[in-house]
Amino acid sequence: MKNIKQTDVEIYDIIKSELKRQRNTLELIASENFASYSVIESTGSILTNKYAEGYPGKRYYGGCESVDMAEDLARDRLKELFNAEYANVQPHSGSQANMGVFNVFLNHMDTVMGLDLAHGGHLTHGSKVNFSGNMYNFISYSVLEETGRVNFDEVWEKAKKYKPKLIICGGSAYPRFVEFEKFKEVADSIGAHLMGDVAHPSGLIAAGVHPSPWPYCDVITSTTHKTLRGPRGGMILLGKDFENPWNKIAPKSGRIKMVSELLDSSIMPGIQGGPLMHVIAAKAVAFKEALTDEFKEYSKQIVRNAKAIADEMLKLDYKLISGGTDTHLILVDLSDIGVSGKMAENKLEDAGITVNKNMVPFDKKSPMITSGIRIGTPAVTTRGMKEKDMTKIAKFIDQVLKNPSDEQNIRKIKHEVNEFCASFPIYEDL
Ligand SMILES: *Cc1c(COP(=O)(O)O)cnc(C)c1O
Repeated sequence: MKNIKQTDVEIYDIIKSELKRQRNTLELIASENFASYSVIESTGSILTNKYAEGYPGKRYYGGCESVDMAEDLARDRLKELFNAEYANVQPHSGSQANMGVFNVFLNHMDTVMGLDLAHGGHLTHGSKVNFSGNMYNFISYSVLEETGRVNFDEVWEKAKKYKPKLIICGGSAYPRFVEFEKFKEVADSIGAHLMGDVAHPSGLIAAGVHPSPWPYCDVITSTTHKTLRGPRGGMILLGKDFENPWNKIAPKSGRIKMVSELLDSSIMPGIQGGPLMHVIAAKAVAFKEALTDEFKEYSKQIVRNAKAIADEMLKLDYKLISGGTDTHLILVDLSDIGVSGKMAENKLEDAGITVNKNMVPFDKKSPMITSGIRIGTPAVTTRGMKEKDMTKIAKFIDQVLKNPSDEQNIRKIKHEVNEFCASFPIYEDL
């Protein structure tokens, strides 16, 4: 960073201060991770200069020989990783990937069903403040209050009543395995397509520690920066490509044959222009990493770590939605201990522990306050932490939440957290 230090000391200082934060705090946000040096180098490379609208071999710009190879590698590695017939690595984010799929599988104001945001869904699954809620007729299903798991009676009932064209499974705060097979049964019964939004567990799926979406989902979308540990971005996959069932027509060439072609043109030119070739190269790097045995072991450790935090929190009398976890995250309901999610997030941050406040199912508080926090283990597992370290982390959290107004105690814990982090160094070469 010798250049930026000279030309823009303000941004240089900001990056340095963020580096310091990442090194010295416990990162428990379930959607965050620490990408490798190789991923970061690719993201910071001169590939950012290249315009490459289109797809490999079919670009609207010259000079694409090198970036074509990068995108081909990214797609091939991704297909191998997920045992998929088709991959699109151009979506700038998970939200863009979802928009790209909706654009193909739905027409304006078509009915579509997804998990309620307050029950673990995502903004792009029909929130009124998101394009999805404005462009489509979203019906939400929820989880059962007693079990915290998807209420399949409700899913069946609403599917029969509203006949959605598309059902979306997966979410942002669902601690259990996504029930692909059960959703497929519902989708088949009404002739709907099934989309898996696996933005959260995709790394676990790639590593084989979460059930595969195939052969149940027609299409899946994901981010590349959560459990997959790549650069910030999105992707779309088809397990098997299939013939365009909607008889969609291209303005010049007539009927489009395959859904893969529709997805490609939905992303570009449909909703995006030039792809981020530096990010696509970094995705290729991350997919290569994810194909290794180390990554499989890493993913297993993520889940062991999440279970270890869950066990300790339960011992300390916390209420966990669904009573535990199968994945990389837990959702803690704080309503019984009289601390809001917002207050917990703030106080934990003061103690050097980063989590996010989160709605819990049937939450009585607003989305800006909330009754819960979400805790995830992908980032701390990347630092090399194991089960015994998770027990320690659960205790740190407990000490803050049980005495939220004891500032002196919080300062003491912050000091201990700093020392703890120092024994798991990260980005020492930066
Ligand atoms: C994170 C997430 C997304 C969107 O990802 P962005 O890259 O932030 O746009 C979409 N769906 C789900 C379920 C997510 O958790």
